[in-house]
Amino acid sequence: MIDLASFKFITKGELTYLIFTPWENEALVHGFTTRTGGVSEGEWSSLNLGFNRGDKETSVIENYRRVCDALEVTLDSLVLSKQVHELEIAKVTQEDKGNGIIQPNKWKSKDGIYTREKGVTLVTHYADCVPLFFYAPKYGMIGMAHAGWRGTVGRIGKKMIELWEKEGILASDIQVAIGPSIGSCCFEVGAEVADQFSNQFPGASFIIAHEYDDKYHIDLWACNERILLEAGILKENIIQSQICTCCHSDLFFSHRKTQGKRGTSGAFMCLK
Ligand SMILES: [Zn+2]
Repeated sequence: MIDLASFKFITKGELTYLIFTPWENEALVHGFTTRTGGVSEGEWSSLNLGFNRGDKETSVIENYRRVCDALEVTLDSLVLSKQVHELEIAKVTQEDKGNGIIQPNKWKSKDGIYTREKGVTLVTHYADCVPLFFYAPKYGMIGMAHAGWRGTVGRIGKKMIELWEKEGILASDIQVAIGPSIGSCCFEVGAEVADQFSNQFPGASFIIAHEYDDKYHIDLWACNERILLEAGILKENIIQSQICTCCHSDLFFSHRKTQGKRGTSGAFMCLK
């Protein structure tokens, strides 16, 4: 079941993407792409936004163009992250526009990006990992962080909030949306991963040990929510989309479902 309360699908032309309903009328462009509406074929079908997956570069660029048209932003306003499952976060400005799309990606490691400037379109990438969207409407600040299991264990969400606090933003004024990603239904791990969660979050109910073998399931949504709450985000300011990309691999790219033969979804944010 897809709970439609916190988000909705928007269809523009051939493209379908997801937005968070509470942010629908904000001075904010945002969206999380589905597989629908692109030109890529085969395992990348069809809206692949990853340049590093073996797909044709011309197709990926065309896919970006289509997303930009739908969101009414320009290709040269995009700033692409550099996601390597680490915890580096960059503040970006007008000067970074075009990074990774019309210019080479200048970073080695940036799993999080944020900006206070209008017209700078932040872009991060996903295929099961958890997208965290940050928004402080009072201050005009937006950000995104890529929280795979390593980023989650490393509390990348908390790190973003701490950076914003240094800029004078109160945690209680920050809203966070947890986007489509692999749910506990499908995120099965071995002891080596589960142990890292247990070390950081002893006894947490989102680490679920199997009774019948030595595997575990981990609820990355609940874990990220706990990290956000501990960092001072108010419960009512957390939007949980609770949609599993692995269960819905017809709609979203899923690394686990396809054993890595897949394209990449994009998350976009831009202040109007
Ligand atoms: Zn699932």
